[in-house]
Amino acid sequence: MNAKNFDADVVIIGYGPSGLAAALCLGQYGIKTIAVERDREIYPRARAVTVSDWTMRCFQSLGLDQELARDMDPTCALRWLTPDGHQLMRMDFPPSRLGPHPTSYAIYQPVMEETLRRANTRHAEHVDVRYGVEMTGIEQDAEGVNVVTRDLATGQTRTVRARYVLACDGGSSLTRERLGIRMIGETRDVRWVVIDGRVKRWWPERHILTFWSDKKRPVVDIALALGNHRWEFPLEPHESESDFATHDQLWKLLGTLGVTPDDVEIHQHAFYRHHIRHAERWREGRVFLLGDAGHLMPPWAGAGMQSGIRDAFNISWKLREVLRGRLPNSVLDSYQAEREPNVAFYTGVAIQLGRIIQQQLSEEELAAMAPKPGVPPPEPPLLMNPWYEAGWLRGAPLPTSAVGKMVPQPRVANARGQLCWLDALLGDGFVLLGDGIDPASLLTAQEKADWDALGARYATVLSAEQRGSQASDIVDLDGSLLAWLRSFGTRAVALRPDRFVAAADGSGLGVPD
Ligand SMILES: Cc1cc2nc3c(=O)[nH]c(=O)nc-3n(C[C@H](O)[C@H](O)[C@H](O)COP(=O)(O)OP(=O)(O)OC[C@H]3O[C@@H](n4cnc5c(N)ncnc54)[C@H](O)[C@@H]3O)c2cc1C
Repeated sequence: MNAKNFDADVVIIGYGPSGLAAALCLGQYGIKTIAVERDREIYPRARAVTVSDWTMRCFQSLGLDQELARDMDPTCALRWLTPDGHQLMRMDFPPSRLGPHPTSYAIYQPVMEETLRRANTRHAEHVDVRYGVEMTGIEQDAEGVNVVTRDLATGQTRTVRARYVLACDGGSSLTRERLGIRMIGETRDVRWVVIDGRVKRWWPERHILTFWSDKKRPVVDIALALGNHRWEFPLEPHESESDFATHDQLWKLLGTLGVTPDDVEIHQHAFYRHHIRHAERWREGRVFLLGDAGHLMPPWAGAGMQSGIRDAFNISWKLREVLRGRLPNSVLDSYQAEREPNVAFYTGVAIQLGRIIQQQLSEEELAAMAPKPGVPPPEPPLLMNPWYEAGWLRGAPLPTSAVGKMVPQPRVANARGQLCWLDALLGDGFVLLGDGIDPASLLTAQEKADWDALGARYATVLSAEQRGSQASDIVDLDGSLLAWLRSFGTRAVALRPDRFVAAADGSGLGVPD
């Protein structure tokens, strides 16, 4: 095949949540994409249970947040109880700073995937989804990647050639294996049984995500969206899967929580073990690992699927800029530089939450976590605003700098006085925001030319007392955006398409290298 003869710019292998999110982004950007998915049907087990405001902001950028939210329920709190009902800890979700959505939602993963699949048919002109087709081989050269696929119905094999490949083929990724990339880490011995039920009758506080903390038999007890409920129990060392093969055996477990066939109808159960693993590298030439193909974490932080979706949003705008010739190929290295520490952070949070649930914390750790009179409690790690600590950023992303942080999303008004959320005015490109000044006025001629070459726009943020004179002006109605900029002592920031600050006045407002 001629080296320049491309079937697509990007091939996506695997069409689970990570592949779907990537296909939606690339479709929105008008990038010619082929997605291959082995299974025709959506995986029926509800694995992921939550999405956060960050993930919903990603979907907002695709115009899908409202549609998805229709099948989700806001989550108000998490709590840790002992088996006799004593509350060890509780975390109420504060209002989100990232936009119009609650901080956390309960979802029902198969329905969410169904909505995303349906939404992607809008991009059929750019995204060709091939169901019942598996990837069997992959090889690359300096200019592109050849992906060998097999149609499972006909057995027919084909080779498709693309400039880049996104491997979204899950935890047992064949792409990763073919590229010779090792998964580093461990798989825990304990096997868990996950029971999903349809709720027949409501019970008090069902909506509070509850971890029954216990050394021997901790339980995860979660309301899922659309009238579903989930329990997760660890098997004890002397137990095996055959001890929980029938509904009668599962009812014995649920009965320990007082749940009976009058409350729910069990509709499926499965066994799984926790993995704490990541790929030793996330990029091999023109192939990138996303989602479970690149990293696996225990479910306690509810961040596994979301990390894959965020991977997709991170790599997609970078691919767009590289394919347009506006950023060099080397910018794609920032994908792992940004996403890996972020995934490691949530993996650490998940491990720590798991230790609380399994009552593995030492006396010292418990004492350190206990509320101290007169001292405001530290922000729970799960609720920290998104940030990147390295990557396509200018200057060091220090705690005292806006660089690397996601900009908040308040309600704003445009110059004509129309009200909207900030992201509606930001669009999907680069935007420089100035506190009461034109951010372009802070740039050297070369810096301005560099941002112009990326199609950047420039907007002045005004307070609610001021009236704009430029069409691009943004009025910060509740003052939270200006307060956020001032908390870092910066007059202007440069935002990337994913709403993270690439550069800030003070540490250099030019395009990152
Ligand atoms: C019990 C449990 C609870 C969880 N709870 C949460 C939670 O609350 N929040 C959260 O964010 N995450 C959670 N997760 C994790 C979450 O479900 C996964 O991280 C997520 O589904 C991974 O998405 P993915 O697209 O990367 O991989 P997958 O969903 O595994 O999708 C991979 C796709 O690739 C396809 N494929 C594989 N090989 C090939 C091939 N060779 N050719 C073509 N197609 C191929 C597969 O058919 C599949 O459709 C949980 C997981 C479990 C098990």
